[in-house]
Amino acid sequence: MKIQVYSAHPFEKIYFEKWNTQGHQFRFTPASLSLETIDQAQGCEGVACFVADTLNQEIIQKLSEMGIRLIALRSAGYDYVDRVASKAAGITIAHVPAYSPQAVAEFAVGLILAVNRKIVKASLQGLNYDFSLEGLLGFNLHEKTIGIIGTGHIGTAFAKIMKGFGSHLLASDPVQNPVCSELGVRYVPLEELLRMSDVVSLHCPLTESTAHLLGRCQFLQMKPGALLINTGRGGLIDTAALVEVLESGHLGGAGLDVYEKEKGLFFKNHQGNPPQDPLFSELQKLPGVVITPHQAFLTQEAVSNIVETTVANVTAFEKGKAINLVVV
Ligand code: NAD
Repeated sequence: MKIQVYSAHPFEKIYFEKWNTQGHQFRFTPASLSLETIDQAQGCEGVACFVADTLNQEIIQKLSEMGIRLIALRSAGYDYVDRVASKAAGITIAHVPAYSPQAVAEFAVGLILAVNRKIVKASLQGLNYDFSLEGLLGFNLHEKTIGIIGTGHIGTAFAKIMKGFGSHLLASDPVQNPVCSELGVRYVPLEELLRMSDVVSLHCPLTESTAHLLGRCQFLQMKPGALLINTGRGGLIDTAALVEVLESGHLGGAGLDVYEKEKGLFFKNHQGNPPQDPLFSELQKLPGVVITPHQAFLTQEAVSNIVETTVANVTAFEKGKAINLVVV
């Protein structure tokens, strides 16, 4: 099949060469899919997309008119796709359900350590030969309570790591995962999790019902000095409310790999010409905040698995098989 790969990164191409044993024609562009770049998919039967791409009703309608039959997502989450419009247009959507939950879980732990132990702050101070210890005090994770929101693939991998730290584990998820229960994770209502946890980490998908799952009211329910980690999706939290609560000093800090208005911001070098986003600027300036550009997935193993599954999804679609389909 002929597939236009949008938002293609150089680090992905070697894996496409490795896994494309079926002779598909993958055409790569670093541009993200938008009305301006949609013509690049002319002559293709499918597009391979990533979270930076726009897949709204208008774009999907145009893709359909161009003869696109498959949207192969190179991501687990599919919150950025208008699935109803795809169904109406007769376009199949496939995704990569679990490529390496460990990659994201390990990064979430990295963010906890970076925020709690002030690793970024210390490193930046060191550039000016400031090796004083003032302002670098953290807390042990041993015997502390970690609240996990969403115990699917990534939340479970995260729970396993945090168990190794000797932390107490609480979780909130409408579906209890027996693997987590066996690990000693205790399922509690969200309100109790927020009240009890020293660190809250988000691992649920962004849906209509989880949009702004955590807002001002929920942040104020959290323990004073607690940390918030978000490697899920930016829209899970009300960022303006988070800024307000961080500024008030109620929370101890936040490690954010995702941001609700990250489209057009992340995955690009804006040095010298930063986009105007007052909320993001405010968030960035807060001392207890570490922001990374949606890179939690970015390990060799995960990228290889993403591409392997994407190629397999294209092959399956070509053969009329239904694997890894996103259903409406
Ligand atoms: P998964 O489908 O395996 O697990 C999601 C879990 O969330 C499920 O157990 C589900 O029951 C639970 N859930 C749904 N609604 C909930 C709610 N209201 N409260 C609590 N739990 C709820 O998904 P996964 O593979 O673990 O991935 C989780 C999310 O992580 C993805 O949807 C994606 O948005 C995000 N993600 C981010 C990156 C990154 O690089 N930052 C990479 C991959 C995935």
